[in-house]
Amino acid sequence: MDEETAVDAKVKEEKPVSSPGDALAKLKARWQDCRDCPLAAGRTHMVFGEGNREAGVMLVGEGPGKEEDRQGRPFVGAAGRLLDKILLSVGFSRQEVYIANVVKCRPPGNRIPVDEEREACFLKLKEQLEAVKPQILILLGATALKAFAGPHARITRDRGTWQSHMGIKVMPTFHPAALLRDPGKKRAVWEDMKAVRAYYDSLGEKEGQS
Ligand code: SF4
Repeated sequence: MDEETAVDAKVKEEKPVSSPGDALAKLKARWQDCRDCPLAAGRTHMVFGEGNREAGVMLVGEGPGKEEDRQGRPFVGAAGRLLDKILLSVGFSRQEVYIANVVKCRPPGNRIPVDEEREACFLKLKEQLEAVKPQILILLGATALKAFAGPHARITRDRGTWQSHMGIKVMPTFHPAALLRDPGKKRAVWEDMKAVRAYYDSLGEKEGQS
């Protein structure tokens, strides 16, 4: 075997047997027909999540709305378009991050998911997080924050302050839908996103130094 062929063989040998993409594809296939909570009854699509499967930044919202349920994709309505702009304002493209929700099926009339629904789906979100392995998690709104920080968490009080959950650095901020209702919250979200960007860039600098 010449040197080049030997190197190729070595690279093949060292290639991981399953990539993060494989893990997510398996989870999606497993949950496609999930009926673990009552939200299954009213859905058009189970909205799994999408984006860069090896993203350093993952965002978690509340649950699919009407348009998300119709298309089977997260954050594609008016709040999703605003989220794209928020991401771009600090230099992240939508393709660069991974986006999911606390519950993957639409609550009737876009109501807040009840504890039973949130808990049933949180186990799935945990597995999704373990597959993506983000360095930063952005929690969008009260439902996402409470899913990780507990029922006493308050988004108006806790947003903008770093937390740690499951060994991941976590930034809570307002949900884009809240900004559509109250544009006065935009400034706070921009400050939170700037903090995320600064921390993300500092990770790159550390890697560059090592
Ligand atoms: S919301 Fe989650 S737990 Fe409930 S049916 Fe959908 S995928 Fe299953």
